[in-house]
Parts: sequence; structure tokens; C-alpha cells
Amino acid sequence: MPTQALLDAKLSTLTGVGPALSKKLERLDLTTIRDLLFYYPSRYDDFSQIVKIDQLQIGVPATIQGRLEMIANRRARGRKLNLTEAIISDQSDSIRVTWFNQPFLTKSLKVGDVLSISGEPSFFLNALQFSNPSCEKIKETTLHTGRLVPVYPITEGLTQKQLRWVAKMATGRARQLTDWLPTEIIQTNNLISLPEAITQIHFPDTLEKLTQAQTRLKFDELFILQLKNQYLRRQWQKFQAPHLNFQENATQKFVTTLPFKLTQAQRKTAWEILGDLKQSRPMNRLLEGEVGSGKTLVAAIAILNTALNGYQSVIMAPTEILAQQHFQTFKKLFQTWGFELALLTGSTKISTLETKPAQILKDLQQGKIKIVIGTHALLSEKIKFANLALVIVDEQHRFGVNQRGQIPQQWLENSPANTYPHFLSMTATPIPRSLALTVFGDLDVSIIDELPIGRQKILTKIVTPEKRSEAYDFIRAQIQNGRQAFVVCPLIDPSDKLGSKSVTTEYKKLSQEIFPDLKIAQLHGKIKNAEKIKILQDFTTNKTQILVSTTVIEVGIDFPNATLMLIEGGERFGLAQLYQLRGRVGRGEHQSYCLIFSEETASKSLDRLNALVKAKNGFELAERDLELRGPGEVFGQKQSGFLAELKIAKITDQELNLKARQAAESFMEKDPSLARQPDLRVRIQDFLARWVHWE
Ligand code: ADP
Ligand code: MG
Repeated sequence: MPTQALLDAKLSTLTGVGPALSKKLERLDLTTIRDLLFYYPSRYDDFSQIVKIDQLQIGVPATIQGRLEMIANRRARGRKLNLTEAIISDQSDSIRVTWFNQPFLTKSLKVGDVLSISGEPSFFLNALQFSNPSCEKIKETTLHTGRLVPVYPITEGLTQKQLRWVAKMATGRARQLTDWLPTEIIQTNNLISLPEAITQIHFPDTLEKLTQAQTRLKFDELFILQLKNQYLRRQWQKFQAPHLNFQENATQKFVTTLPFKLTQAQRKTAWEILGDLKQSRPMNRLLEGEVGSGKTLVAAIAILNTALNGYQSVIMAPTEILAQQHFQTFKKLFQTWGFELALLTGSTKISTLETKPAQILKDLQQGKIKIVIGTHALLSEKIKFANLALVIVDEQHRFGVNQRGQIPQQWLENSPANTYPHFLSMTATPIPRSLALTVFGDLDVSIIDELPIGRQKILTKIVTPEKRSEAYDFIRAQIQNGRQAFVVCPLIDPSDKLGSKSVTTEYKKLSQEIFPDLKIAQLHGKIKNAEKIKILQDFTTNKTQILVSTTVIEVGIDFPNATLMLIEGGERFGLAQLYQLRGRVGRGEHQSYCLIFSEETASKSLDRLNALVKAKNGFELAERDLELRGPGEVFGQKQSGFLAELKIAKITDQELNLKARQAAESFMEKDPSLARQPDLRVRIQDFLARWVHWE
């Protein structure tokens, strides 16, 4: 049989694997030999220590080998339980072994057999015994005892023994696997071969070999991930992009008319972006920065340069509220520059408030509007541009990885063939740089790593129920000093099931009982857009002092006069979310506070809240969040799809990541189309089909 056929053969073709067993295996998505080879154990029992019976210790996992002296079944506990009892002896001593409800053992094991028994000895009736240990007859090699024994994730009805036994037969064909890693990469990174790694991951000879196998298989996954990144990066660079001259004088003028000085980090990142815009290939850059670090201004500088070059920019935000606020911000920033701006959101009715949607569409298509701000609504078929040169996605983590760099066809309709706009995504999810290189390896990364001067650390406190009225007094004092407050609740309307605070009830309580003398407004997703805008305007102008809201205010929005963030039901939010919510205050010169109300006293949820209190910055918090919740949660459901391909590797495995990245880079350098590596190409072909739709 050709080697591939040996690997792609059904598991049911293996001797002894009948229809019942193959059905169970299929439930684990294990159909072929190859499937099983890449189905890794989740852990190992270390039964590699073979000891003499007289050296056994209570509770210490071990393996003994000896002769079966006696075996019999009997009924126990009112005959409900079948007990198999046996005696095993070696030169040093003998020991009692019992199994529950495995009466068939007396059929397969005969007195005189030499057995290997692995388990944890326990103390029973004044002697050591093994209770329900693994057991097998000694042949040349053992599977279930006397070694590092693999333990697989299994499904009901399937036993570890069955799976191990099938895995053993499958690994017999591991040497047929073609090693898809180029030899020089294997050598420079000190890796073992693929067949060796697969054999050892299932049945490791030693702990050291197991580690080598894990390293090799982790490397494979990370290398493939990086290869995709590199591929994407190179594809991107094949395009032409509008070459946008740096408008030095105008940019100077823009910057000097701001009410503050740019931070060093803002200058640096703006400079990196302007450098990209000058190139004739499209920028693909991620701008990361703490909440409140001033990303919007950096974006504005890029937009200014684009508009001055006569091209259009689009900025997309995840929520209507943020889009609305960006629109106001940019309108103000560009007031004296004479660019036409438009806002387009889901309820196209609100559009710019001044201009009719149909007119906006026309003006966009004719290039009259230079800057358009909006939500997902911008992805509509109807939206076309005259000469789009810059696409900015704000709060990128809200959109998911899969949307990165994917620009709707209709936007490009009027662009010359093979050109692409420059692309900038912005995020406040503070991903450590090295991690960003893995997750967003196809992007260039700019980081704003400082806050504007004068910002004070937001004081964060967890407030227990009995301190509630004290907290309200504190809010009142702040408001009397001219400041404003947010109150965030997990729900819009009360729900019996969750028992969390809701916006409608808290609004009622606060406006009628607690602060009847203050102006309070409520904000949530069910409120009509026109009204939302009014509510936000009133908050901007300090007509209302307290905004009771759901997490619709979570991302992006900016009210420098608000200094109090009160979060109800803090334990219901993830760390990243709390961090974002807290970031709504502390955006001006005043000392700001974040009060987190928690109904729970469970230490786990308090741990999480305490992490927020303690973390020095977002980066530290992100690492903590990764530890506590794993990358899937942290990068969002949509993004985890990308990481879900990592079965054994961890994106937090920095050292291996770096090696894989270097390997992928140098490899792509030499063979950018993977022409010389058909095996590798096969590995990423699904990806190519999905992503590289322009090929
Ligand atoms: P984010 O990075 O979270 O998007 P924003 O761009 O919304 O932050 O900026 C937060 C606030 O800081 C805004 O009110 C903005 O005007 C202000 N700001 C931006 N840059 C500076 C600066 N260099 N000095 C002082 N304030 C600044
Ligand atoms: Mg922002």
C-alpha cells in the first residue's frame, strides 16, 4: 500500500476494531489512522517506576511485576457489587489486588500469568493493596503499566485501555508520516522528527523524550500559524496603495492648535503611520494603547494627511455611541480645514443629522465627502468611494480577527486594479508586544505606552454591600465639585433569574430616592438613536450629572469631566471589560475613581476584581487575564477561532513562538510561494482558500 493510504486507512481496518468501537471513536472525530496519530493524550500517569512489592508505599503511584497466584470473583455488599480478588507475588513479597465490577478478568487472567500492575497502593485490612489498578500481561512492551501511561480525553463508553490499544496499533504506522518541516528548520531548532515525535507523544519512553515530542509538536503548530501570518503579510505587500505625501507644515499647524502637547508616544506612533502612508504599498498596522492614551488623535493625524492628499478615509467603530462621538470629535478637530465629514450608522436616519443618507452616499461616491465615520453599517453594499485611501477600525478587538484586513469589495470598486487602501486597526486590549507578534503576526505593531501628562491613577475600590451608602455620599461630594458619574449595570431590565442590578430599576432608585436633587439619565441599547444622541449631548454639556447605563458605554467614549465609574455586579464582568469600563474615567486632569460593587464574596471572583485593583497597567492586567481565563476569552470568541488551531502549543509560550516566527520568516524569504514544499502548502491550503481570496 502507498504510504499515504496506510495513514488514511479507516481505524476499522485495524484488527480487532469492530463496528461498535469504531462508532465510539468516531464520536471523538477519530476516523482514520492519521486522526488518531494527531489525537494527543491530555496527560500521563507516571507508572515508569517498577518496584518490588516490599518497597511499595501508601499513595505513591508505582508498578509491580509478578506472578498471579490466585484470582476469584465474589459478590459483595448485598450482592450488588462484583468483586474480583487476586494475589500477586514477586521475590520480595505478595500483595492483594481487587477490582470492582470487572468479572471478566477471571476469564482473561490465569493463575501463573506474569502480570504488570500499576496504581496507587492503599491500606486495607492491615495490609497494602491495589484497588482497581491497571493491569496487563507482560509482553515485550507494556501499554497500561510500567511506563509513562498516556491518558486521553475520552467519551462515554470508551475506555482508556481501548483507546491506548488502538493508539498503539496506529503508532505502528507513524513512520509513514512525511515530515513537513524542512530539514534545515528541524536542524537549526534542534527538533526531533515528526514520526518520532508522534510515537513518543503517545507512548513516551522517558520524560525527556516526552518533552522533546511536545516541543516538536508545539513548534509545528506555531510554525504553521506564523507561516500563515507571513504569507498574508507578503500577499498584502504585493498590492499598490495610494502614495500619501507627508504634509509637514499642515500637520505642524494642526498639532500646535491642539489644547495640549502630544505625548512622545503619540508622536512616535503617528510618525510610524505617516511613514507607512508614504509607501506605495498598503499599510497594515495595529495601534495599541492603554485606554485614554489618545489613539483618536493619532488617527486624526493620519486622516488629516490623507484628506490633504485629496483622498478619502473611513473610520469604523463597534457601537453607534462611539461612532457618534468620533463624528463630533473629528468635526471639531477639522473645523477650520474645510473637509466634509459624514456619519453613517445602522439607523441611517440619524446619519449626519444635517444631510440625507442618499445625499451622503452620492457625495461619498463622488469624493466630496473626505471622511466618513460609522458602524458596521458602512459594510453595506451601497457604500462606494471615489478614492478611498485609509481605513481605520477602532476598538478592533470588538470586531474579531477575521475581519482584519478584509475590505469590502464595493469599497474598492473605483480603485485602480491591484490597489488597496492603507489599513489601521486600533485597540485598547493591551497585548504584550511579543504576544501581538504571534496573534497579529501579519501586522506591524505600534504601541502608545504612556498616558498624557497630568493623568492621575484611577483609584479603584471594591465596595461591599454595607458600604453602599458611604459610596453614594462620595458620589454626591464629587458632583458638588462639578464632576460627573457613570453607574453601569449588567442588565437593562430586572430579571429574576440573574438577580443582577438593572438600568431601569437603578435609574428609578437613584433618581427618586438617593439623588432626587440631581439630574440623572439612563442609557441602553433599547433607547432610540435620536434620543441616545440627546442623552450624550446633555452629558457632554454637564446638563446631566449621572448616567446610568449598560455596557454600551464600554468602548471608546470620552467624557473628560466624568470622574466616577460605579460598576454594579462587578463579578459579572470579565477583567478586560472592567478595565475598559474603568477607562471611561480618568481621561481629564481630575482625580478619578472606580467603585466596583460586588454582591459576591466568593474568593475566586474577588481575586479577579483584586487583579484589577492591583495591576499597574493594562499590559500587566492582560497577562493576568490570560492566566485566569485563557486566550479564547481574552481575545474574544471570534478571535479564538484563529487560536483554536493550537492543540498543544500555547501562544504564551514566548520562546518557542519566537523561534517559530524566525523560522517562518527565513523560510518565506527563500521560498515565498512554498513551491518547494508541497507538504507545507497542503497544510495551509484551507487557509489560503479562505483568506487569500484575491489570488
Ligand atoms: P483612547 O486611546 O482610549 O482612544 P482618546 O483618544 O479617546 O483615548 O483620548 C482620551 C482623552 O485624552 C481625550 O479627551 C483626548 O482629547 C485627550 N488627549 C489625547 N491626547 C492628549 C495629550 N497629548 N494630552 C492631553 N490630553 C490628551
Ligand atoms: Mg478610543
